[in-house]
Amino acid sequence: MKFSKQRELILNYILNSHEHLTADTIYADLKKDNPELSLGTVYRNLTKLTEMGAIKKVSLPNQVDKFDKNLEPHAHLICDECGSVTDIDIPEVKSFIDKVSKDEDILINRYNISFNGICKKCKNKK
Ligand SMILES: [Zn+2]
Ligand SMILES: [Zn+2]
Repeated sequence: MKFSKQRELILNYILNSHEHLTADTIYADLKKDNPELSLGTVYRNLTKLTEMGAIKKVSLPNQVDKFDKNLEPHAHLICDECGSVTDIDIPEVKSFIDKVSKDEDILINRYNISFNGICKKCKNKK
């Protein structure tokens, strides 16, 4: 399999998923149909795809890096119960960032906002 083919395979897998995926998850799932795929290749391609801006790497405290297809700036909720990572849309964040940038006369290029709590699924189970 060609290098670019593998990259496409990995990218499509992420684009078709609704989760925030770790390299291990992607590898384990794709390996079933692509026995020649190696974990090293998955890591290399994930780095490349992140550099290209096709996906976003989500670094969270005490968690392995996850990969996100949602390129818009957004916040994350990390569930205390199941460990899942959920996107949260907070329109106020953008105006907040704009305000801080203006007030402090700075330019904010990236930010990471994550909340710890209970996700909708776990919350509704109780
Ligand atoms: Zn949960
Ligand atoms: Zn996300």
